[in-house]
Amino acid sequence: MRLRQVALNLINNAIKFTSKGGVRLRVEVGADSVTVEVQDTGLGISLEDQQAIFDEFRQSERTIARGYGGLGLGLAISKRLVEMHGGTIAVHSSGEDGAGSTFSFTLPTVPAPLEQVRRADKFSSSEQSVLVLTNRPDTSERLCEHLSRRGFKTQITLIKRGQTWRAQLVQSRPDTIILDLSTDPALGWETLKEIKSSQGLAAIPVLFFSSSQAEGTLLELDYITKPIEISELTRALDQHWLMAGSIRSTHTILVVDDEPNTLEMHARIVQAHSASNRLLKARNGREALEILHRETVNLILLDLQMPEMDGFEVLEAMRSLEGARDIPVIVVTGKVLSQWRWRA
Ligand code: ADP
Repeated sequence: MRLRQVALNLINNAIKFTSKGGVRLRVEVGADSVTVEVQDTGLGISLEDQQAIFDEFRQSERTIARGYGGLGLGLAISKRLVEMHGGTIAVHSSGEDGAGSTFSFTLPTVPAPLEQVRRADKFSSSEQSVLVLTNRPDTSERLCEHLSRRGFKTQITLIKRGQTWRAQLVQSRPDTIILDLSTDPALGWETLKEIKSSQGLAAIPVLFFSSSQAEGTLLELDYITKPIEISELTRALDQHWLMAGSIRSTHTILVVDDEPNTLEMHARIVQAHSASNRLLKARNGREALEILHRETVNLILLDLQMPEMDGFEVLEAMRSLEGARDIPVIVVTGKVLSQWRWRA
């Protein structure tokens, strides 16, 4: 999203200040960096102005004299974004009027996250450690027994409001965390938010457990905040495929969002992640459930805030729907989770 924002800003400027000739976009991939270059044959920028235009609200004397409008913010924002990602941005122009300009930015590339692959390899082995976070151990007793019988190294940690359990968690680094939402779901969501915003813990898969129905149910949920960073969604998708042990096969993914532009954007990201995926779209919770009744779905990308039937209601309904209970869900939310109301 940000990369696009910076590149588009440079391209828009190049077009704006070029009346003849052309604009060229070039992308060069190096060993550990990527350079994007936008070259134009327009007005060019005097040597004195070349530094100033990266400051806020600054425009070159040349474009002011010609009556060009603008806020003078685009380059300042681009510079900040690029530098925040460890990159650099620069302009080259001989300075002569009409000589054109070349803007370029370089960003370091990031190696693919190997850790997830390793974790996935481990998933089937009995060496897996599971940490159950609960505010009342009795509700998850049966779950823990079950996990231990299955050979998982199981540990329970009590969570309470305002308690600092995070350091303990970072130390024990479990392979999977199970959050018990049975008696205090709001606390569970707060805990999830803390886990997902903590650097050392964010990559650990989190499962949700609730024993509020006759038998306990387990929902596999991931959690992403809007606006979605493409890399974050890709990470979540990777994790699901790796855990399912089938990266290449076709998956049916249901994307649910009431906002048409967001729905399209999320669908595009998912499709780009793997072209072989089959995509289903639902504009609200009711449509999503209809689809779940008639289709086999492997993963759901679910918006929580929707009118009519929201994401929480969908999750509730999924629990009692045979076949839907086991579908992993990536929850997408712009909402402060602690304000969430839980319907028992
Ligand atoms: P804005 O375009 O809204 O004024 P920017 O921060 O994107 O804001 O650009 C700041 C100034 O830099 C522009 O007003 C213009 O004077 C100069 N500039 C930017 N790109 C070019 C270009 N490709 N050719 C000539 N001048 C440019």
